[in-house]
Amino acid sequence: MAESTELQARETIHAGGKWRAATSGATREILDPADALPFAVVSEGDEKDTDLAIAAARRAFDEGPWPHTPVTERAALLRRVADLLVRDREKLGRLEAQDAGKTVEEGRVDIDCVADAFRYFADLVAGEAPGRVVDAGSTDIHSVVVHEPIGVCGMITPWNYPLLQASWKIAPALAAGNTFVIKPSEITPMTTIAVIELLVEAGLPDGVANIVTGPGHSVGARLSEHPDVDLVSFTGGTVSGIKVAEAAAPTVKKVALELGGKNPNVVFADACATEEGFDTAVDQALNAAFIHSGQVCSAGARLIIEESVRDRFVTELARRAEKIRLGRGTEDGVECGPLVSEQQRAKVEMYVESALKEGAVLRSGGKRPEPSPQRPEDGYFYEPTVLDHCHREMRVVREEVFGPVVTVETFRTEDEAVALANDTEYGLAGGVWTSDAGRARRVAGRLRHGTIWINDFHPYLPQAEWGGFGKSGVGRELGPAGLAEYRETKHVYQNLAPKPVRWFAG
Ligand code: NDP
Repeated sequence: MAESTELQARETIHAGGKWRAATSGATREILDPADALPFAVVSEGDEKDTDLAIAAARRAFDEGPWPHTPVTERAALLRRVADLLVRDREKLGRLEAQDAGKTVEEGRVDIDCVADAFRYFADLVAGEAPGRVVDAGSTDIHSVVVHEPIGVCGMITPWNYPLLQASWKIAPALAAGNTFVIKPSEITPMTTIAVIELLVEAGLPDGVANIVTGPGHSVGARLSEHPDVDLVSFTGGTVSGIKVAEAAAPTVKKVALELGGKNPNVVFADACATEEGFDTAVDQALNAAFIHSGQVCSAGARLIIEESVRDRFVTELARRAEKIRLGRGTEDGVECGPLVSEQQRAKVEMYVESALKEGAVLRSGGKRPEPSPQRPEDGYFYEPTVLDHCHREMRVVREEVFGPVVTVETFRTEDEAVALANDTEYGLAGGVWTSDAGRARRVAGRLRHGTIWINDFHPYLPQAEWGGFGKSGVGRELGPAGLAEYRETKHVYQNLAPKPVRWFAG
């Protein structure tokens, strides 16, 4: 790693309306993955800091105004936050790019999506009926079902889309009237810190929004196990997700898990029957696999293609993959940034090596690129990699690589395509490419994944639920179900003409 520069340590723990350093005084350098140089120093919190933040959130929920603030005011605050995000779009987009190794354009798109999430949940709660009146079968009974905030929410987020993933939790939690403590990934905390500053600027009462920067094994584990946390919402890998669920179990808190994926992109030959169709399917397969260097939970990392078009398709895919311009995301003309860390690149290298040993054929990439002015030698770059002749027994096909690697498998029949696409323990997302509308609907209906794209890949809508089948998680983010995660349901039954029941004679 390159030598550290003189950077001022920031106080990045926010509890009860005050910014503070870690109780232990510990700090952490945040590295730019494009050159492995530190660009910020943040507080490295631990269990003690987490307890302080949880206590602040608990007080703000039990005694503060936020849970009882009229829903129109809560919605107005969320809209102010969206406006502040738009105001700071360029600054935040660049910060996200530097922190997570994205291009600045990807960073800007992320910030737009974050602002959209705040607006969506503002509109959703502002437009809701206050409760559902139930017909109790008597005019003497008034029965209504209402939704209330769940309480103190613990939020744990990953490094690939740091602020986007945080916003899918923060926006619905606040819209519903909760207080929260968030723990961003220890290696990409910068934009989550910035959004807490924006929440304060927007006028959120003290103690409602709290952040503890620090590691998963201490801060994340404490949030999961703490009895004063009512819900823990986690986005990250399956191994950590299981630990969170286990730590949460003794306190019987609600647990929401958004975990990994191993997502099929199924291409039928009929989608490639015209030049335009072929070009679109190849272009989107490239995008599915390599955007943000494949560090996307919904990456189309498994290309499952009809055998008759495989050679032409894979040749073109590999040709275009080789042309992707890798470099520091803040440089003009760069299309793909580095991996987030040395550890992540080592993991990708391990998977490619194991695939080649198991018989995969390398069609592009498979190595670190040559350093260049746009690609410093110490950056964590890896070439977009196409692995042909793969099969489902290979580790690289079964496990989530989370890097710029796409595997190619083939099929001959529709049934075979569906069987391959469903042959995964995950179930987050999948794509199907065909010009046959009936087949598109048939296949979409049979795929066991939380999101299915037909003749597209990657788009999501804040108004549509996001989440996974199988080991891709429990619960949903976005859409009405994404708001419901942050609520308790209460039935209020009022007897308007009470009388003795005389069940007991005495
Ligand atoms: P990790 O599981 O390593 O980390 C996710 C978060 O969990 C981090 O903040 C981490 O802290 C924290 N954490 C780690 N261990 C524990 C623990 N024992 N208790 C509580 N918290 C803990 O995932 P990555 O950050 O590596 O993110 C990549 C993963 O996230 C991929 O598997 C990807 O598919 C998934 N993901 C899923 C999405 C979805 O929508 N389904 C979206 C985005 C990513 P720290 O890093 O500080 O140690």
